Amino acid sequence: MTFITATAPVATNSHGGRAKCLQRLVRLELPVPKTVALSFAEVHRIAGGEMPDMDALLAPFESDAIVCVRPSSEDPDWGGPGAILNIGMNDARHASLSDQIGARAANGLYARFIQSYSVNVARLDPDTFDDMDYQAADICRQLLDAYEDEAEEPFPQSRADQLAGVLRSMARAWEGTSARLLRQAKGAPADAGLGLVVQEMVLGLGHGECGSGVLQLVNSTTGLPQITGRYLSQSQGREALETGAALFLERDSRGPSLQETVPEAFEELKAHAALMRIRLRAEMQIEFTIESGNVHILDGVRVQRSSRAAVRIAVRLAKDGIIPKQEALIRVEPRALSELLHRQVDPEAQRDVIATGIAASPGAATGKIVFSAAEAQASAARGEACVLVRRETNPEDIRGMHDASALLTERGGITSHAAVIGRGLGVPCVVGASSLRFQLRKRALIAPDGRVFREGETITIDGTEGQILAGEPAMLEATLDDSFQTLMAWADEERDIDVRANADTPADAQTARNFNANGIGLCRTEHMFFEADRLTVMREMIFADASDDRRSAIEQLLPMQRDDFTKLFRIMQGQPVCIRLFDPPLHEFLPTDRAGLRDLAEALNLPLSVVTRRADALGEYNPMLGMRGVRLGITVPEIYDMQARAIFEATIAASRDGDPIVPEIMIPLVSAKREVELVKTRIDAVAAAVRTEQGTDFDYRLGVMVETPRAALRAEDIAPHCHFFSFGTNDLTQMTYGLSRDDAGRFMSTYVRQGVFPEDPFHTLDADGVGELLKLGAQRGRAAQPDLTLSVCGEHGGSPESIAFCRKIGIDYVSCSPFRVPVARLAAAQLAI
Ligand code: PEP
Ligand code: MG
Repeated sequence: MTFITATAPVATNSHGGRAKCLQRLVRLELPVPKTVALSFAEVHRIAGGEMPDMDALLAPFESDAIVCVRPSSEDPDWGGPGAILNIGMNDARHASLSDQIGARAANGLYARFIQSYSVNVARLDPDTFDDMDYQAADICRQLLDAYEDEAEEPFPQSRADQLAGVLRSMARAWEGTSARLLRQAKGAPADAGLGLVVQEMVLGLGHGECGSGVLQLVNSTTGLPQITGRYLSQSQGREALETGAALFLERDSRGPSLQETVPEAFEELKAHAALMRIRLRAEMQIEFTIESGNVHILDGVRVQRSSRAAVRIAVRLAKDGIIPKQEALIRVEPRALSELLHRQVDPEAQRDVIATGIAASPGAATGKIVFSAAEAQASAARGEACVLVRRETNPEDIRGMHDASALLTERGGITSHAAVIGRGLGVPCVVGASSLRFQLRKRALIAPDGRVFREGETITIDGTEGQILAGEPAMLEATLDDSFQTLMAWADEERDIDVRANADTPADAQTARNFNANGIGLCRTEHMFFEADRLTVMREMIFADASDDRRSAIEQLLPMQRDDFTKLFRIMQGQPVCIRLFDPPLHEFLPTDRAGLRDLAEALNLPLSVVTRRADALGEYNPMLGMRGVRLGITVPEIYDMQARAIFEATIAASRDGDPIVPEIMIPLVSAKREVELVKTRIDAVAAAVRTEQGTDFDYRLGVMVETPRAALRAEDIAPHCHFFSFGTNDLTQMTYGLSRDDAGRFMSTYVRQGVFPEDPFHTLDADGVGELLKLGAQRGRAAQPDLTLSVCGEHGGSPESIAFCRKIGIDYVSCSPFRVPVARLAAAQLAI
């Protein structure tokens, strides 16, 4: 038991946060009422029936002082029993207070105590007091009679007995099974302790200006300086402030304020809050009571804050010299940054959740439901926001995906087409929403509760939470303000691992540049052919039977690619750009329906039957493990030859007007050393040819994607041919688990719920299994080639936990979608601090 004075030490991990904070306030000589703190160990003993010496406990307080007990756990978010006020109220004190502050106020205090003691300590049914008339003059008598009837004993009159009962009930409530499970769900350890503080009550009721309130110096939503809070005359505790009768603090056009009612108290509170900000090194909300015009500080807690407020508050504290920059970086949760980068549903808004799915691309957007890419385009042309709803998406949907405000699919997981494209475009996306019935022919979505949402109706997709909401909740706009930029610049000073972006288009590259990525770590070249006119040429190449036909398609592709690469190099000038050679899962490029086949037949000038037959012949049972990546490159080498030529010609063009470009060329889906040898020989030959033709020299770096388990295991054979390895953790996860990336969404939630997997391994890197392959691949690769650059470019590259793992095993950089670059930069900085 520690009486909180300026000398007796109290620690957060032995007495809890509230006790610690109160002690600091006492040391700052703020007007804190007398307080005694019980440690975790003492409270644990109380729960076991071992009571402290109550006389000693109460010794610091006046004999007639009314006290309260408040919980003090290590982290206020873990919950705990509610405070119990007005301990010490009894018949005698009720009578004396009636004389001092009036019968009505005295009744209020005693009635409140009898009721909370009955329910929380004596465990009487709360219904017992339902029919009481709280305005009645004899309300206390009625409550005491009801207590006696139910508890079969008189209401305790001794303050020591009352307090002992309260302490016992709060200690036991904390140790109960349901409370323990609840706080463990919030991240508390199994043995988390509870401290209790016994504090003298300042009544907040009586003559002169009396009341209670809360005050803080910043706005919790924006993080900007603004005095906010509420105050209610003749009241006790926070709950009372919820009523409409509470006053604003600062002079306010919306109604009367504390500033006008008691200006001196208002000024004093402001000064206390400012001192607390400096000395407690945080924006604090203070809970206060005013009695006869005098201010008392009951408690201080860190202010609640939105993500954008968290950034502003941390940066301002550092700029004001209150905390170091490093601490400001640690105080912001990296994932919370994505809330600043995208529009979000206002945390205060009402949410009508229709269904949930996998949160695939963060941010929120509202729009009218459309069921096809063509309608999405039409909708955009009319200037109407729309949500594109598909069973799953494929390259034919790309234009519509660009034009949609948000995406929703029934199928697919975190690496599905819709998810990857949504993240790349920065469009909010929820995938795998299989609890909704997608009735595409009837153009309707049926919610699990039976509600029907038809084409044209307005819904909102919250891709941060993975929710589909009815209607249009209030939104908060994205804010990349000065505080954000400052925090990011500080992060870059600290971090020791590079962050590049996965960028396929000039727009992606520009986003990557804006977010200060250290280059492009993965340009998926097949994604450059999703636009409708290009898709046709790509299909011509895939469909070509004879090499002449293929050559003609390739000749058309060459200038397009050269142009693409020149643009990327120019945007990223001075930064590395890693281009991956074609890796098209064929099914993503084949028409999926009759209309698509007919269009293709027309474009190729072939009979429909021939196109259909050829499409069937190209069809694969498992296209994700089929003729992808280097397998296509070796079977049809002209494709990679063309890409290498386009890269080299673009290198020369872009180097003319800036720093020399050193392109990085990456071979996908390698599993054998011979694949690398064959491709390298041809690329070297193309480089030599281009050098001779143009009379210009250039360098380039060749590397492979390590994304099959065999490539990781045989890294020692492969590395001598490479400048770099980039681990493709999407495919590596798929192949390590034998789990299809496109189908995993169907059962992933069941698996995670039942604890088979701790998390979706496509989301958070599986350090034990996939991570083991990464470690082996890195060690074996570097054993053969010590200068080998190592990176991770799967979706995991943007996840803070995965970055921690990568850093530990010596990865040089991670690459993630452009909108996750700031999250990765901050996460990397936190790891280095
Ligand atoms: C990967 O497999 O991790 C990867 C980055 O490539 P993709 O997702 O394009 O297969
Ligand atoms: Mg891959």
